[in-house]
Amino acid sequence: MMSKNIDWQNLGFGYIQTDKRFVANYKNGEWDNGSLTDDANIVMNECACVLQYAQTCFEGLKAYTTKDGHIVTFRPDLNADRLISSCERLEMPVFPKDKFIDAVTQVVAANADYVPPYGSGATLYLRPYMFGINSVIGVKPADEYQFRLFATPVGPYFKGGVKPLTIKVSDFDRAAPHGTGNIKAGANYAMSLHAIVTAHHEGYDENMYLDPATRTKVEETGGANFLFITKDNKVVTPKSDSILPSITRRSLMVVAKDYLGLEVEEREVLLEEIKDFAECGLCGTAAVISPVGKIVDHGKEICLPSGMNDMGPVTKKLYETLTGIQMGEIEAPHGWIHRIK
Ligand SMILES: *Cc1c(COP(=O)(O)O)cnc(C)c1O
Repeated sequence: MMSKNIDWQNLGFGYIQTDKRFVANYKNGEWDNGSLTDDANIVMNECACVLQYAQTCFEGLKAYTTKDGHIVTFRPDLNADRLISSCERLEMPVFPKDKFIDAVTQVVAANADYVPPYGSGATLYLRPYMFGINSVIGVKPADEYQFRLFATPVGPYFKGGVKPLTIKVSDFDRAAPHGTGNIKAGANYAMSLHAIVTAHHEGYDENMYLDPATRTKVEETGGANFLFITKDNKVVTPKSDSILPSITRRSLMVVAKDYLGLEVEEREVLLEEIKDFAECGLCGTAAVISPVGKIVDHGKEICLPSGMNDMGPVTKKLYETLTGIQMGEIEAPHGWIHRIK
């Protein structure tokens, strides 16, 4: 295998066009077989449902090179399941799980030269997504859909070392009760853009969203779930029907319990109790865990004892164990690693 001539260490998180992407079309009530294509552009009608009414959902996962030189992805079956839930909630036809795994496999294999080497910290980010493509002007679901999956290499998340984040308790809401917070709808991101631009403008890295009904409970950030560590080393994650079920967070809870022997709790977390936690992290595919150093609630600063210089000790253990499992340095639970090459 000939790796592309890319400076993996200095790669950021941006779109770089790769050679092949997968496209499948849904028409007359069925999916075609789909195939790889060189064409990175999409031509659609001006009145396509996705353009008018944002009928679209997506997924995100990574491929990387393990210690022993294989190319793998991490739990793609859970991305397939989650895409199915998103489709069902958005009145879209589901994209079958076996076809999803096959598309992941085909795209990674066809772009194998873009998979960063072991130890670089860089990865090949995969973006599966689906949208209503035929023209729809009266509000209703589309009849025709396109599923696509492209790959783009992304650099190490913690370039130049770990920097704990400062986050703001937001006055905006991310997801309504009984809304679409628990699925990966493009629309969830569209309405979070103003909130994140505002937070950045004020000097914060991220928003902490609360439950919109009572504004007393912690939900998540715009694109990552929270993990908290109590002073007696319990791992706590908020429970709510409007949180997006992060695959990273669910995996970290297993790692905490089965690999590190820690007590884990998924329960409601009150804003009021975060001052009592020892550590806080944000989990998602991009960073695995980003440590949080400070949470600001309308001028009141809550400084986590783990500080602004490094990950807290438990967060670090969780991070090292899960990334070790992903990179083939630590034995994975059965079915977590999908080998492509
Ligand atoms: C994608 C996403 C996450 C992270 O999920 P992973 O499966 O761990 O990548 C968390 N929150 C939101 C809102 C998301 O869209």
